[in-house]
Amino acid sequence: MLFSAVAFAQDITLPRHAPYPGGVAVVKLGEANSHPLDVTYDGKRVLTVKTADGLLAVVGLPLETQPGPQTLQIKAREGALKLAYATTFEVKPKTYPAQHLKISSRFMQPSADDIERNERDQIAIARAKAHWSDDAPANFTLDLPAAGPLSARFGLRRVLNGKESSSHAGLDVAIGTGTPLRAAAAGRVIATGDYFYSGKSVFVDHGQGFITLYIHMSRIDVKEGDAVARGATLGLSGATGRVTGPHLHWSVLLNGVYVDPELFLKAAR
Ligand SMILES: [Zn+2]
Repeated sequence: MLFSAVAFAQDITLPRHAPYPGGVAVVKLGEANSHPLDVTYDGKRVLTVKTADGLLAVVGLPLETQPGPQTLQIKAREGALKLAYATTFEVKPKTYPAQHLKISSRFMQPSADDIERNERDQIAIARAKAHWSDDAPANFTLDLPAAGPLSARFGLRRVLNGKESSSHAGLDVAIGTGTPLRAAAAGRVIATGDYFYSGKSVFVDHGQGFITLYIHMSRIDVKEGDAVARGATLGLSGATGRVTGPHLHWSVLLNGVYVDPELFLKAAR
């Protein structure tokens, strides 16, 4: 079974409540018998799940979130009174370490062709990141797609050739080219591509905006629309796109936001 057919999943393991930038907030919205709610954060739909603890929102927090109170917008999906209200939760500060890297000049000063290619890539990537399917995830525990040393953790503030760049939005696993990459959980392939910065990439949807992304691959063995089981081979690791060497860069998304993949690994619980 790909997704849980029943919204109430008593034995579901939630991601760890980690209410800081780049983390995940688990916010109680009501009791387990509550009517379904449509929840948005920062204008984006938010995953909701029913557990023995009640109806919960599982909210991805962008790395650039300012600590302090955050607001969820909530609408009742059914009932005569289409109730709309808001609830708040608190985000705590977190500082990530810096990492200095040397990158090939092609990626620091891309050509006009590369800039144009990247603009097309970004449209496709934004569409995949915004993908929504109504099924709730069967569970939130993810398996590391390949065994290997974790060479760059999520959230590192990147300094490329001495220039401040965007933060590291995934988890790097140091593996050579040609290692099979396995789906972190059951899901459906929503996009594949060969992008300027990310190289060969696969997006897998696990339900309600819970998405995993595998990049810098040397080979892709799946196509858009494929259902994949947990552990299914998506392709092979590689060194395509902007890299300093072969590795897997693995990202996890909630409500269109990159969050720390380690929050979903069994070892982190
Ligand atoms: Zn990376």
